[in-house]
Amino acid sequence: ITSEEQSVLQQIEEEDVKFLRLQFTDITGTVKNVAVPASQAEKAFEEGIWFDGSSIEGFVRIQESDMRLEPDPETFAVLPWRSNSDYASARLICDVAHTDGTPFAGGPRQVLKSVLERVEEMGYTVSIGPEPEFFLFKTDEEGNATTIPHDKGGYFDLAPKDLASDVRKEIIFTLEDMGFEIEASHHEVAEGQHEINFKYDDALGAADNIATFRSVVRAVAAQNDLHATFMPKPIAEINGSGMHSHISLFDEDGNAFADDSDEFNLSELAYKFMGGILNHAEAFAAVTNPTVNSYKRLVPGYEAPVYVAWSDTNRSALVRVPDAAGTSARFEIRNPDPSCNPYLALAAVIGAGLHGIETDADPGEPVREDIYEFDDEKREEYGITTLPPNLDRAADALENDEVITEALGEHVTEKFLQAKRANYADYKTHVSSWETERYLEKF
Ligand code: GLU
Ligand code: MG
Ligand code: MG
Repeated sequence: ITSEEQSVLQQIEEEDVKFLRLQFTDITGTVKNVAVPASQAEKAFEEGIWFDGSSIEGFVRIQESDMRLEPDPETFAVLPWRSNSDYASARLICDVAHTDGTPFAGGPRQVLKSVLERVEEMGYTVSIGPEPEFFLFKTDEEGNATTIPHDKGGYFDLAPKDLASDVRKEIIFTLEDMGFEIEASHHEVAEGQHEINFKYDDALGAADNIATFRSVVRAVAAQNDLHATFMPKPIAEINGSGMHSHISLFDEDGNAFADDSDEFNLSELAYKFMGGILNHAEAFAAVTNPTVNSYKRLVPGYEAPVYVAWSDTNRSALVRVPDAAGTSARFEIRNPDPSCNPYLALAAVIGAGLHGIETDADPGEPVREDIYEFDDEKREEYGITTLPPNLDRAADALENDEVITEALGEHVTEKFLQAKRANYADYKTHVSSWETERYLEKF
């Protein structure tokens, strides 16, 4: 047992934790839980906890189903919304391993760790600052989610219009109890839409945080009889929810993306990384925007990117460089949405960036004009391509991109593509109200 694990055992004792939730995600990013009595903690650290991997989407087949969870002691956190009862519960985020202890290549956290090993070999660490957006909707008498916004606020509105600000505060306090450092929170553009920004972290920590964030937001919303959704485009013709991610690489001298002599305060390294991102965005979209609904957000007019380009000013580009320098020099990648599996999404994006460094990729010139207004000809002139129009085309692009499929690994690529193809096939045969409203009486 390591000293870190020892200190977790001590905290379990001190805080009277009775249950441990061992958490991990399936390939869709859904958080899975195995609850064990706290008395099992030592055993969990020493031998791992066995579970049936065949019942988890994208893991293994029934004949090889035994798998092992290995809790990461750094992720220990007492769950605040259980601590009003007589005993406390805590969670530990786990890696998934085979029963002999070898890491399972199909575990999303493992996939990200493998990409981060490459980053480390190159002498860097990756910092990610995620900006997940979400909607708070009312629930009906039966407690089911509706799409009626909880409030009538707008961008950065203050109370009393922003009725949800109390709920948002409660969410923030709960996150802080779990060790989050919240930097800002505000009402987003749409009614009922919010954004909470937490401090950047190394990529693995950021992915863990995103998974935790989503469960905290949902839990606190539910306590207030609201439904929080991270669905990318819950209402047509209204801004969707993105999860912009701010990226920088650090080395022993500090921020390796910073260069004060550059117009945008970015280094050569940053531009190469950005070049890699732009070159592989069409392929990693399947991972950062993994639902049929994701592609209804990526349309012109709602501050979501459609075009593969970068800019320092405008929000229609895929990459935006905020006005920041020194330690904070970074860029923002704007297409990811909060329905993604954060581990796989970051693995794919970082894999693209690393390939950019390895191949001296060039992101080209920034686009200052509103790309939404460009016609095909002008886009061609600027060399601007578009993100895939739907999940099926995104899956095609992923399948054909060796850089991204290598970052995900063979196991995940295969299972992921299977799942996405199945989703799209199902969706394609569905008849929606859009069609019946237009055709039922007309024909
Ligand atoms: N909600 C917008 C999106 O879908 C982003 C708004 C913003 O710039 O924060 O990405
Ligand atoms: Mg926002
Ligand atoms: Mg942003």
